[in-house]
Amino acid sequence: MSGLELVDVRKSYGSTPVLDGVSLSVGPREFIAFLGPSGSGKSTLLRLIAGLEVPDSGAISLDGRRIEHLPPGERGVAMVFQHYALYPHMTVRENLAFGLHNAGTARDEIAARIDQAAAVLEIDALLERKPGQLSGGQRQRVAIGRAIVKQPRLFLLDEPLSNLDAALRNRTRVELAQLRRRVEAGVIMVTHDQAEAMTLADRIVVINERRIQQVGAPLEVYARPANAFVAGFVGSPAIALLPATVTGSGVHAQVRLAGGAEVQTRVPCAVLPPEREVRLGLRPENVRVVAPGSGTCDAETILVERLGDRTLIYAQLAGGEELTAIDEGTSALRIGDRVGLAIDGGSAHIFGGDGTGYHAEHPA
Ligand code: ADP
Repeated sequence: MSGLELVDVRKSYGSTPVLDGVSLSVGPREFIAFLGPSGSGKSTLLRLIAGLEVPDSGAISLDGRRIEHLPPGERGVAMVFQHYALYPHMTVRENLAFGLHNAGTARDEIAARIDQAAAVLEIDALLERKPGQLSGGQRQRVAIGRAIVKQPRLFLLDEPLSNLDAALRNRTRVELAQLRRRVEAGVIMVTHDQAEAMTLADRIVVINERRIQQVGAPLEVYARPANAFVAGFVGSPAIALLPATVTGSGVHAQVRLAGGAEVQTRVPCAVLPPEREVRLGLRPENVRVVAPGSGTCDAETILVERLGDRTLIYAQLAGGEELTAIDEGTSALRIGDRVGLAIDGGSAHIFGGDGTGYHAEHPA
C-alpha cells in the first residue's frame, strides 16, 4: 500500500491523553491539512509521523513499511518547522547542504539537488547570502528548500505560514500550491487557519479534542459538516447554530425558531433522530437582508462589516440568538437598525443533541 497509513494511533503525555485512536490513510501525492484549534493535538500527530515522538500504541506505515519506531532520518519524511531555524553563520547553500553532508551524500549529488531545489523555489540568486540578508519569506523558502533536497516521500509542514505578515502569507500560500505540483511527494500541513486549509489541501482532516472529527475535500467538509464543531470551525464568518424545534412531518424537516419563525429545510425527516429539539445551521449565504416585516423574521443589526462587493450584517433575533446575513455592497444599514431576514432553508443544516450533522438531500 503506497502512501501514509495510520492505524489506531494513541499518545499521552504522562496521564494526559493527547490523541485517542487516530486512523487515517493519505495517498502518495496528496496535500493534506490537519486543521483544528490550538491544543487539539495536530502538532503531536505531525511529530509522531516525523519521528520526533513515539506513539504509545498503534501503527504508522509509509509506502507499506512500518515506521513508527524508526528514527526521523530513516523515515523518508522531511519536516519544515514554524520557526525555521536556519544556521545564521552559514550561507543559504551551506544551509541546504548541511543535512546531506551529515548523511554522507556525495558532493556532486548535493550540488545537483541544491540546484534543483533552488530552481523550484526560485532562490538561485540567494544561494551565497546568509539568512540575516534574507526577508522572512525568503527564509521560509530556504527552510522548505532544506526539506526538498532530502527528496522525501512526504513533506511535513508545521504552521509554515504563521510567522509571515498578511501579504506575504497570501503570496507564500500561492507559492506552496505551485510548489506542490512540482514535487513528487505528499504534503501534510498543520494549520489552525481554515482559509489556508480550504485553499491548499486536497483533503482536510479536522481534529478536535484528541480525535479526528472529519476527513474530506474542502467543499465536502464545508457542505456536509459531520458535526456542529466542524460546522463552526470551517467557514468564515462562522455558521449560526440556532435552537429550533422540528415541527413538520413531511418528507423534509420543517423547524420553528425560538421566536416562532418557521423554516422549511431539505433535510429528510427519515435521517433525523427522534428528538424534536435540534439546532438549525445557517451560513451567511443562506440569509439575506430584506425590509423589516417582509422576511422570515426580523432582527436588530449589531455589527456591519463592509467588504466592498457585499456587506456582512451581524444580526440579533428577539430571543438573543445571533446570525450573519449578507446585504449589498452598497448597504446603508447601521448598527441598531431593524432588518428583515429572508432565510433560505434549502441549504440549511440540522444538528442533533449529540452534535451530529444532517444535511439537505439536494441543497438549493
Ligand atoms: P496543537 O498542535 O493542535 O496546538 P499539540 O499537539 O501541540 O496541539 O498539543 C496537544 C496537547 O498536548 C496540548 O494540550 C499540549 O499542551 C499537550 N502537549 C504537547 N506537547 C507536550 C509535551 N511535550 N508534554 C506535555 N504535554 C504536551
